[in-house]
Amino acid sequence: SRKSIKDFLRRNLFVLFTVAAVALGVILGFALRPYNLSLREIKYFAFPGELLMRMLQMLVLPLIVSSLVTGMSSLDSKASGKMGLRAVVYYMVTTLIAVFIGIVIVIIIRPGKGSRDSPVAKSGNIEPVQAADAFLDLIRNMFPPNLVEACFKQYKTTYKKIVFTRNVTVTLNLTDPLNMTESNLSRMLHTIQETVEEMVPMSGSSGGVNALGLVVFSMCFGLVLGNMKQQGQSLRDFFDCLNEAIMRLVAIIIWYAPVGILFLIAAKIVEMKDLAEMGSQLGMYTASVIVGLLIHGLFVLPLLYFLVTRRNPYSFIGGLLQALITALGTSSSSATLPITFRCLEENNHVDKRVTRFVLPVGATINMDGTALYEAVAAIFIAQVNDMDLNFGQILTISITATAASIGAAGIPQAGLVTMVIVLTSVGLPTEDITLIIAVDWFLDRLRTTTNVLGDSLGAGIVEHLSRGELQNQDAEAHNSVIEV
Ligand code: ASP
Repeated sequence: SRKSIKDFLRRNLFVLFTVAAVALGVILGFALRPYNLSLREIKYFAFPGELLMRMLQMLVLPLIVSSLVTGMSSLDSKASGKMGLRAVVYYMVTTLIAVFIGIVIVIIIRPGKGSRDSPVAKSGNIEPVQAADAFLDLIRNMFPPNLVEACFKQYKTTYKKIVFTRNVTVTLNLTDPLNMTESNLSRMLHTIQETVEEMVPMSGSSGGVNALGLVVFSMCFGLVLGNMKQQGQSLRDFFDCLNEAIMRLVAIIIWYAPVGILFLIAAKIVEMKDLAEMGSQLGMYTASVIVGLLIHGLFVLPLLYFLVTRRNPYSFIGGLLQALITALGTSSSSATLPITFRCLEENNHVDKRVTRFVLPVGATINMDGTALYEAVAAIFIAQVNDMDLNFGQILTISITATAASIGAAGIPQAGLVTMVIVLTSVGLPTEDITLIIAVDWFLDRLRTTTNVLGDSLGAGIVEHLSRGELQNQDAEAHNSVIEV
């Protein structure tokens, strides 16, 4: 009836807006491509999208801290210990499954077979990184010596000097000097400029936050605060209130999200390289990653959710739509975090004690999509180099791909940087990362969406497994109210 349609529309208005924003963004992007906008023009055009990124990122820091502190301090330490263990087991199992799927697919499809599509400049502008150093960095980041600094700076000994350059082939036609017209020259400069542009996300200005360090600190702090009984009440109230206020800000920003997403997507499509220029190896590589992510996100994770909870995983995923689309638009799981919270709590009614605890940790360390991509990319590069990997090397790749996914921050293209760990661990040339840069912006969006999906289904699974503890806590709270 008309009333129920109206009802449906009202309830799903934002989801519909968000889906429409993606469609409009794609259409607008392709419509503008023929106009060959300059980089500056594209930047202006992308501005509404940049604003959304900034607004979301603005909330991430207080959100991580307040949700973890309240989450941990509202549970008794036994309950949070059990819940934490479940979450960690879920993260490990799903990440390893993702890596496994990636390896099987890249071995079956063999995207890197044949001789190289494109030569790579062996300019050696990427510093070799020892896997051990990168691993120590990961642990160092868990214990930031200065908390204030951790709010805007990540400790990096290993990646500082990495500069990525794309292959820029410049052909000068010497027999015809007149060919060097002004427009040719400017096109050349344009290409070189693009190289610089692509470095921006990798220097990680937006992701300077050492989320891992803040997560570890907030968890410990919340745990201690929870044990402080009456004495800790005022601080517990403070963080609880902070968390509530941030979530209200999220509810406001969500109104703007469809506009931002529309422009983020449209601008990226305008900027994108011509797909026809993509070699067949790169095309097959892209397809391998996509197939792997689809299998993991649409079949394996939902199956796991169903096996544990006996509930319909796809209706759960339906409630996540806005978060998934935001991940697609922003290619950052940490910028998506505020929306993920809202989807899980408002649409899927997951217990706040679980989301507050599990989501910030998940967004920081649980990255199934990234792990899968790291494994596929490393083996692809081995195939391109005609290098046969033995079982031990494949095992090494699965372990380092897992570590690299944990170490990657939830910011755009972080996984591309931590790829270095995987490549060096089996002696592959790190400069071959340049082979896959051209399509990384796209794969990044898809793997980020998979990452967010994995975190969210994980929250649902952990909640289901922890219902005993949660009920106990409810009963205790009830009793203590009666005692008072
Ligand atoms: N962009 C991804 C994320 O935020 C990380 C990656 O680069 O793989 O989840």
